[in-house]
Amino acid sequence: MAKDQEIRLNRFSQKNGEIASELTAQALYDKCLALSSNLWWTWHPEVHSLFRDLDPIRWRQLDHNPIALLSEFTPERLAGRAAEMVLHSRINYHYRRLKEYLSDTRKTWGTTNAGILGALPVAYFSAEFGIHESIPIYSGGLGVLSGDHVKAASGLAVPLVGVGLFYSQGYFKQHLNTDGYQEEEYLDTKVENLPMEPAVDADGKPIMVSIDTRTGSLHAKVWLMHVGRVKLYLLDCDVEGNQPDDRRLTSRLYGGDERTRIRQELVLGIGGVKAIRALGITPGVYHLNEGHSAFGPLEVIRERMHDDDLPFDEALRQVTRRTVFTTHTPVSAGHDFFDAGLVEEHLGPLRDQLGIPYEQLVGLGRVDPQKEHEKFCMTVLGLKLSRRANAVSQLHGHISRRMWAHLWPWRVEEEIPIGHITNGVHVPSWLAWQMRQLYDRHFPDRWITGMGEPAAWRNIHNVDPGELWEAHNALKNLLLSFVRRRVSRQCRRRGEGDEVVEAARAMLNPSILTIGFGRRFATYKRATLLFTNPDRMDAILNNGERPVQLIFAGKAHPRDEEGKQFIRAIANCRRDPRFKDRVAFIEDYDINVCRHMIQGVDVWLNNPRRPLEASGTSGQKVVLNGGLNLSILDGWWAEAYDGSNGFAIGKGRSHRSVEQTDARDAESLYAALENEVIPTFYDRDVDGLPRGWIQMMMNSIGTLAWRFSAHRMVMDYTRTMYVPAAGGLSCDMTRG
Ligand SMILES: *Cc1c(COP(=O)(O)O)cnc(C)c1O
Repeated sequence: MAKDQEIRLNRFSQKNGEIASELTAQALYDKCLALSSNLWWTWHPEVHSLFRDLDPIRWRQLDHNPIALLSEFTPERLAGRAAEMVLHSRINYHYRRLKEYLSDTRKTWGTTNAGILGALPVAYFSAEFGIHESIPIYSGGLGVLSGDHVKAASGLAVPLVGVGLFYSQGYFKQHLNTDGYQEEEYLDTKVENLPMEPAVDADGKPIMVSIDTRTGSLHAKVWLMHVGRVKLYLLDCDVEGNQPDDRRLTSRLYGGDERTRIRQELVLGIGGVKAIRALGITPGVYHLNEGHSAFGPLEVIRERMHDDDLPFDEALRQVTRRTVFTTHTPVSAGHDFFDAGLVEEHLGPLRDQLGIPYEQLVGLGRVDPQKEHEKFCMTVLGLKLSRRANAVSQLHGHISRRMWAHLWPWRVEEEIPIGHITNGVHVPSWLAWQMRQLYDRHFPDRWITGMGEPAAWRNIHNVDPGELWEAHNALKNLLLSFVRRRVSRQCRRRGEGDEVVEAARAMLNPSILTIGFGRRFATYKRATLLFTNPDRMDAILNNGERPVQLIFAGKAHPRDEEGKQFIRAIANCRRDPRFKDRVAFIEDYDINVCRHMIQGVDVWLNNPRRPLEASGTSGQKVVLNGGLNLSILDGWWAEAYDGSNGFAIGKGRSHRSVEQTDARDAESLYAALENEVIPTFYDRDVDGLPRGWIQMMMNSIGTLAWRFSAHRMVMDYTRTMYVPAAGGLSCDMTRG
């Protein structure tokens, strides 16, 4: 009997133990899910490494997607792995940090400086949001800027909600064939692996919006993503009730023809405003990030006319007062244009409600409303529907005022109402963990909360030069192994021989000056400018004592044949004995590739045809990590370069002919490399340190990191645009 009882007792305690461990396993799993469901984790490298430690190989294979990773775990397996890797306390710690971050906004910059937006947040509209490589709803610079904007708004606690589109296939994946020609592949994103949930109204019902056109209605559902404290709403047309073609309307970013584009922009602008209203949000400010969302204010005008019984003109006046418009495009051809007929087809029913004639609606998108052949331009619409407008760098401000001067023919150029706020990057997202540790040791406590101001960054000069150089070289080595891994994988995928794959595994050398070029292969960015004179390039790359190596990456728009030929020319360097050991091309440029490149290069090259680069932001990411910029004095660099914090190509002049410009810029580029960049890099002291170079790294970090941070940018938007625009509203309200 004693035996029996013992067995029973044993069973009992075993069972109890199991229940207890099941409970903790489930609790642990839930905490990991909570961490992965708020994109806060994307700018906390400690949380990345937590997820990575669960299964390093799958983590990489799954594009660093924690939800996809967790779906391969049961709570028990997770608990087992956590025990093995001693992860319990780390999971609990970060879970608590996230909770605190979300609940405590008392001592934030936003509470002090953006109080007026508290009940009336900014609604920030953008056609793309680049937040993390595992969420493919961005194509490039504009998207990453929007992602950085919402992340900084979260950090500062500026009340803001994001509005965008959900693209189920995103932008394309790039592969090169054996000939170096770009091929595009579109993959369906698994919605269940994304940190999204259906957005619901006050009654908990999923939100749907409908937009009437002359040729039928369009419907969209709304997803919600949490980006720290910011809510991001994404509209998605893949719903029942839509025509089969319309169900695919939002599947691809910049995919279709003019009609697809206007319908996407209708969903973003009009649908976005309707979604916000259905959610019960009353924005104090509408920020249109680029012209894609410029239809939005028309719907807000309709709301005001309906709710407050205002005539069109008065509603228009009030709505423009709280609309902010940012333009990003310095060439007229780059703006979005539509046929007047398409505009009437899609906005006709709304126009009826606004009670305005066809000519008046179409005129809002024309510089000269009377000109019947002028196409409808979304930038013109954005400018006419906003009281405050801005360009994205100082130089771009000049260009934009000149470009749009004819909209205000009675004003002189300086009085054209387009200002500028220069773009910046989200420091915690782009700063390498190794650099972060270095700064944490030498900068004041909690320096990261003041990262948009100069004070903390001055401490960079207290860092030991050897230590900074070491941290940089560690990152450079990580980049080189990343390139080897990717390039050898590319060779294997193309079915190339073992020797080729092996050669790729051994390519590039950490002691060689490494220059990176990662960007869209648009013609004006001139990716092949370095190869204008191949013999001179040969001499530079293969110099016996002071060699140079190059790493390229970038996609061409699927319809940009010239851009694809640029890619081909660079990819095929690997067949040229002069260049094959010195030039690498990484396929499928995205946030992940960009992060590796900007954290590891010695020099970041940017040689656009001036003044076509409105701002550019990748060079700003390089600054944070100790790389130096070598750039045409265009976009942000025209106001950043001071002679001691990087290198300039040319003197910031523009020439009349494209051929002449290209020839002179190539000459300046070679001269800068031969006379400045290469000698400074290879000038070593007895300890093997390039003292002059390290001094420039410090100057670059000290003078540029804060100025070109997204925190500074969002503070500028808040002070000069959002608060005044929202103030306009409160005036209206008191008067009303
Ligand atoms: C930062 C970033 C860009 C912007 O780069 P610029 O060419 O400097 O404008 C584009 N694509 C990706 C993936 C980025 O991370």
